[in-house]
Amino acid sequence: MPRQVKAMRGPTLRCKGWRQEGLLRMLENTVENGEKPEELVIYAATGKAARNWEAFDRIVASLKVLEEDQTLAVQSGKPIGVFRTNRETPLVVMANANLVGNWANWETFWDLEARGLMMYGQYTAGSWAYIGTQGIMQGTFENFAECARLHYGGSLKGRLVLTSGLGGMGSAQPLGVTWNGGVVIICEVDEEKTRRRLEAGLVDRMTHDVDEALHMALQAKERGEALSVALVANGAEVSNLLALKGIVPDVVTDQTSAHDALNGYYPAGLSLQEADELRRTDPQEYIRRSMETIALHVRAMLEFQSKGAIAFEYGNNIRGQARAAGVADAFRIKGFVQLFARPSFCVGRGPFRWVALSGDPADIEAIDRELIRMFPDDANMVRWLGLAGRVPHVRGLPCRTCWLGYGPRAEAGVMINRLVREGRLSGPVAMTRDHLDTGAVAQPTRETENMRDGSDAVADWPLLNALLNASAGADLVAIHQGAGSGMGGSISAGVTLIADGDPASDDRIRRVLMSDTGIGVLRHADAGYEDAVELARREQLLLE
Ligand code: NAD
Repeated sequence: MPRQVKAMRGPTLRCKGWRQEGLLRMLENTVENGEKPEELVIYAATGKAARNWEAFDRIVASLKVLEEDQTLAVQSGKPIGVFRTNRETPLVVMANANLVGNWANWETFWDLEARGLMMYGQYTAGSWAYIGTQGIMQGTFENFAECARLHYGGSLKGRLVLTSGLGGMGSAQPLGVTWNGGVVIICEVDEEKTRRRLEAGLVDRMTHDVDEALHMALQAKERGEALSVALVANGAEVSNLLALKGIVPDVVTDQTSAHDALNGYYPAGLSLQEADELRRTDPQEYIRRSMETIALHVRAMLEFQSKGAIAFEYGNNIRGQARAAGVADAFRIKGFVQLFARPSFCVGRGPFRWVALSGDPADIEAIDRELIRMFPDDANMVRWLGLAGRVPHVRGLPCRTCWLGYGPRAEAGVMINRLVREGRLSGPVAMTRDHLDTGAVAQPTRETENMRDGSDAVADWPLLNALLNASAGADLVAIHQGAGSGMGGSISAGVTLIADGDPASDDRIRRVLMSDTGIGVLRHADAGYEDAVELARREQLLLE
């Protein structure tokens, strides 16, 4: 019988305080939301929350006895030791999948992993901050909105988007497109998973037939109706077929786990079962075929681009893999952060999120209402909170993502702690964020691609972010390597805070959320972005 984990709900404490209990529920919630929870695999093919079940059980046992003035150290998903620190320092610090530069390649990692010495933490899997598709929903919606604003007069109405991957993150794409008025065909090889997305309301239609998918999509496009069609098929094969038929989508991207050619991407010409069998029996041959298919996939994207489609990479390193497989001009396609998200990062704005530890969805609604009362002029935020309630809630504790920047993020955090204190929520709230955030990551093919000063690969910033957040008194601080760009592709930092309602927590929350966003503003100011320089000057963040 595979193990199942469900996050504890309600007022009962199993730990010595809510800060510890909150982190424990976040770990449980991450597993509850996972794609393959029985293997502790959360998302992005192999991103895990703990190294193995023994490590998981020991983390849980440690959190249950952890005092407020102690810190638990976790190394690649395995608990290592508990240290006496103080009440203002993190309860948990962790480092996941960090390899010394020259050794940061998949062969070394897979060897270490097979010997039980490491774990791939991705972003929010290893740092226990995963909240399922909801976590990426707003970012996906805003990216498509920005794409529409830049290229199609502010709407995707009457536009066709072609993409792939209905995984943990990729499943946000269909709603991201249809909420912007567009039509999307999304290819996914896994029939069972596709059906789950359909049942969850994340996609409108499902078919195995390319012609049927095209018929539905083109008809909706013609009528200017929003529609998402999941096509159970290989994205590379479908893209090439469309190219042959002379059909050019208006927007093309991909969110398979192409960063991992072995575990995250399915090669063409094989059924799902045949591919899974080949992966087991001949991994080298699997990788060869996978890389060959990725090359085909990106060549089709480039062809669409040359015929007028807006093509972008959605953070899965498909361009890097294609280049390695011989597609020399793969980087003619640009990345989504550079194209759509950077202006937000410049002002410290990024995917902040919170989780109702009580399990009561009314807590999330109460916070929504208070936020709208506090920031009535933030049109983006108000529009998003109106839509966010429509994201199907499939599993896990009730939660919300809301992009907030330097200043408002701290004000929101203190407000949430006040609501807990005043008994206006049913319980404490965990506040956290994606590692894909303003100052928390160096990933030269994604978040820091084409920085104005060429500092794309400088990883000092996320390390400073983690050090600052620990100094400021966050409850959990994590440093990760790898993530969506694969081994050697990025260094990032995660952070979590528990709003336990204690007045003493107000100051800690303010300090952490100001440093977490402030270092992002400074990172972009240092690179020469005017909005960041101006904000940093106004807030006196810059050392003159
Ligand atoms: P996942 O592994 O849960 O899902 C990937 C899906 O792609 C799977 O369902 C798989 O069956 C499908 N797939 C693989 N090869 C395919 C092919 N050739 N054709 C059609 N379907 C195929 O991964 P995820 O969590 O959804 O993340 C996807 C990628 O996006 C990862 O590389 C991840 O690092 C990246 N990512 C992007 C962002 C972002 O902000 N855009 C954030 C996190 C992760």
